[in-house]
Amino acid sequence: MLLRRALYRGGLRYRVHARPEVSLRIRADVLFRSARVAVFVDGCFWHACPEHGTNSKANAEWWAAKLARNRARDRANTSALQDYGWTVLRFWEHEDPAEAARVVASAVAGSPMVRGKPFSS
Ligand SMILES: [Zn+2]
Repeated sequence: MLLRRALYRGGLRYRVHARPEVSLRIRADVLFRSARVAVFVDGCFWHACPEHGTNSKANAEWWAAKLARNRARDRANTSALQDYGWTVLRFWEHEDPAEAARVVASAVAGSPMVRGKPFSS
């Protein structure tokens, strides 16, 4: 994944496809556990990106319902993690990985844990 490579080149170390919270059935694509930053890179197709989401004519209703469920789950996962005090960053797979890496790096650097303050959720 291009974003991971960009992060690694930037000196950041992280876990991949890891669960932020054991009690939640959510796996982040990139996880900074001590900084409590969870990063998701959403596929344009399955997560219905506004630019590249499907407009499939066949089974259009079925697809619309399925993709709407996926997006609703994305939103639910984001807010569940935020409730646990995680910073959640979501990117589309079409986004510039270097730019995404900059956003991630600044979120990790700005985390209360990284600055050495006690974390309060
Ligand atoms: Zn896209």
